[in-house]
Amino acid sequence: MIDQFGREINYARISVTDRCNLRCRYCMPECGVQKIPHAQILSLEEIVRVARIFSRLGIKKIRLTGGEPLLRKNLSTLIHELKRLRGIEQVMLTTNGVLLKNFSHELIAAGLDGLNLSLDTLNAETFSTLTRRKFFSNVLDGLQSLPEKFSVKINCVPLVGVNDSELVELATLAESRPVKVRFIELMPIGCAINSSLVGVSSSEVFATLEKNFGVLVPVGKKNSLQGPAQYFQPKNFVGQIGFIDAINHKFCATCNRIRLTAAGFLKTCLSFDAGLDVKNLLRSNVDDDELAAKIRATIYRKPREHFFGDETKFQMYQVGG
Ligand code: SAM
Ligand code: SF4
Repeated sequence: MIDQFGREINYARISVTDRCNLRCRYCMPECGVQKIPHAQILSLEEIVRVARIFSRLGIKKIRLTGGEPLLRKNLSTLIHELKRLRGIEQVMLTTNGVLLKNFSHELIAAGLDGLNLSLDTLNAETFSTLTRRKFFSNVLDGLQSLPEKFSVKINCVPLVGVNDSELVELATLAESRPVKVRFIELMPIGCAINSSLVGVSSSEVFATLEKNFGVLVPVGKKNSLQGPAQYFQPKNFVGQIGFIDAINHKFCATCNRIRLTAAGFLKTCLSFDAGLDVKNLLRSNVDDDELAAKIRATIYRKPREHFFGDETKFQMYQVGG
């Protein structure tokens, strides 16, 4: 569907849990977070029902995220159900990869179209320091467990003094494998606000990579479902390198996404609290037509652009990144 500013909204990010097995310093506090009681989390049936309505409204791509989505029981069943919905062209997953090796086979068998793996470092010690957990080898095993041809994007948040000496090494993951390595600017959200972490800007990462790989040739966008990353392909690379610079180059004018939190709240913009309590409607016997009308009206009012200011109260693990 088209929103009030003429943007086609065709992409939904659905968070399936607020829980996580890592404690990334920019995302979650050391002590974890107050868990939402199970009864307050959407059931798989409820998620499928909302996704069916989304598809009626023109959503073509769904990304399952979290918290850590692989902690959610029966995730592969959910993927299978979502893939059966008419109009849904892609079902994707964003994961930290800790449990990936255990599930990669069944996720792919269920029809998963592609996966984003969050990996900020190739150094085991840096991984433990940044995530406060010693699961580095599990993540690498998870990556290795994927078939070569499976669509993989590796997401990395470059941080001064943490992983900025590894950017070339991380980008090199795309040299001989058909993966996309994407550098995402640290956003001033949640735990990132009061941490001592400082992000490296995309332009600095770009300059570092060009110094090493030579001119980065831009790659054109394939379709309207492609997100805000700009992709480049160094000479002799099989894969690509992407940049997402939400802070310095806002991409709101072409934003095509909505978000559903694990607790069933529909957010139409990352940085605004306004939205729709879908769970409440689902559980109050509203029929699909009425639900669709309410969701449509909410999406229509999607704000023009994001704003990361002092009022930004939400946490990244609540809205799935
Ligand atoms: N747990 C899964 C994972 O890490 O892939 C999915 C949820 S996590 C919130 C999704 C993405 O958000 C991760 O790639 C993470 O690096 C990113 N993220 C979290 N906090 C961020 C921040 N303050 N700035 C930029 N990216 C952030
Ligand atoms: Fe967990 Fe992902 Fe947040 Fe790291 S970024 S703490 S893996 S939800």
